[in-house]
Amino acid sequence: MKRAVFPGSFDPITVGHEAIINRALPLFDEIILAIGVNSNKNYFFTLEERISTLKNCFKNEPKISISSYQGLTIEYCKSISADHILRGLRTAADFEFERTIALMNKKMAPELDTIFLISEPEHSAISSTVVREILKNGGDISEFVPANFIKK
Ligand code: ADP
Repeated sequence: MKRAVFPGSFDPITVGHEAIINRALPLFDEIILAIGVNSNKNYFFTLEERISTLKNCFKNEPKISISSYQGLTIEYCKSISADHILRGLRTAADFEFERTIALMNKKMAPELDTIFLISEPEHSAISSTVVREILKNGGDISEFVPANFIKK
């Protein structure tokens, strides 16, 4: 059973995340979209809103489940017997950031591997940060979020 965890804030999920998740589906038996809860971070959407949005976006995909966790991602992966971490890469900056985390995770949990999928060009400029800015300023986010996104 190949089980992957896609950890993230998903504040909110974008079409960029959605594309990575859909492309990873044939690679794994199960993908857990896991919202990492960091008490030092201020989120735009509440945890409940992010969980219900993710559930709604992937309600027709039996291989996907939604969860949240606190603490180290590797400990969460071990607790649910996941053997892979899934992440997306948009830019060289993403790569540098992700590389150090993946290497530290590998050092702490050698049995876990991080799998990276390179973002498609049309998604490489899309970020949750920009979507939040558009929302705060009353703009239209519909082309940047999945079709079943729950509007706030
Ligand atoms: P975090 O707070 O952990 O960075 P995010 O929800 O912002 O959480 O991102 C989770 C993962 O999704 C990261 O690997 C990030 O690089 C990737 N990601 C974010 N936006 C995109 C996008 N537009 N295309 C591909 N991957 C993306």
